[in-house]
Amino acid sequence: MIPAPFDYEVAGSVGEAVSLLESREDSKLLAGGHSLLPLLRLRFARPSLLIDIGRLDELSYVRDAGSSIAIGALTRHHDVATSELLQEHNPLVAHVAGLIGDPQVRHRGTIGGSLAHGDPASDLPAVVLALDAEIDIAGRDGVRTVAAGDFFRGVFETAAGPHELVTEVRVPKLTGDHVWSYLKFRRRAQDWATVGVAAVARRSNGGVAEPAISLVSMGATPLRAGASEAAWAAGSDPGAAAGEGTDPPSDTNGSAEYRSHLVQVLVRRAVEEASAR
Ligand code: FAD
Repeated sequence: MIPAPFDYEVAGSVGEAVSLLESREDSKLLAGGHSLLPLLRLRFARPSLLIDIGRLDELSYVRDAGSSIAIGALTRHHDVATSELLQEHNPLVAHVAGLIGDPQVRHRGTIGGSLAHGDPASDLPAVVLALDAEIDIAGRDGVRTVAAGDFFRGVFETAAGPHELVTEVRVPKLTGDHVWSYLKFRRRAQDWATVGVAAVARRSNGGVAEPAISLVSMGATPLRAGASEAAWAAGSDPGAAAGEGTDPPSDTNGSAEYRSHLVQVLVRRAVEEASAR
């Protein structure tokens, strides 16, 4: 199918993008286009105005921000994956960006688009959730900051309103004491995760402190696996309770039952891999 007709504008600044968003009720931002264009072609999305922010170079950066690393919303997955700053201070984020899709997807897709799209099958949302990242959102009244834990609201639904734009995400710097893993089970190399697991913690007194485990494709949003986190901290089996509080979908990649089993296996393996790092 071909998309329904729409008007097209190129935004020259964040302010202009916000003004254009407000100019039409059913307007939509276009970043890398790798999630939106398929929806347009299927006519699942029919905006009357498409606002291209893909040339907003001011939002394409990876910067040292003290205790965190700031990543501009328009930073492409490839640039996140190959960022020396991230490889040094938060290799988990760089590693996961390098697992997204294929090289073509990684050269077009953006971190802001990936978060704002709110797809529970995407990789980076679960990672920023495990890292307690902060997400900046710009609107008419300026920029507000939302914790990753409050950002994901439902399938394709986030804290960013229809007239707002995600501008930056800040992830904490990990130290030499941190251990991490990201495991993604998929049928083909370039596929979305049937289930994904991000695990990160700080080594402490022969065990771990502040464990965080988050799950991909196990519900309407990325989910924290609280019972598994507690088990990791206690040194007991983190996989046994991995499905607690989840509501996995059944689709062509796997049934809910299959996912419920898979998540237990992957959580165990992710904790093992992190602990061995
Ligand atoms: P777009 O498609 O341009 O936009 C997506 C949505 O977010 C739109 O609603 C748009 O209006 C909104 N939006 C975009 N930017 C902003 C912003 N700054 N502020 C507010 N709203 C915004 N993802 C994975 O995580 N893992 C995978 O394995 C994976 N595989 C893929 C394989 C293929 C073949 C394809 C086509 C995509 C794949 N993706 C995967 C998705 C890819 O990562 C997308 O690029 C990403 O999810 C969306 O980023 P984008 O910049 O392309 O956003």
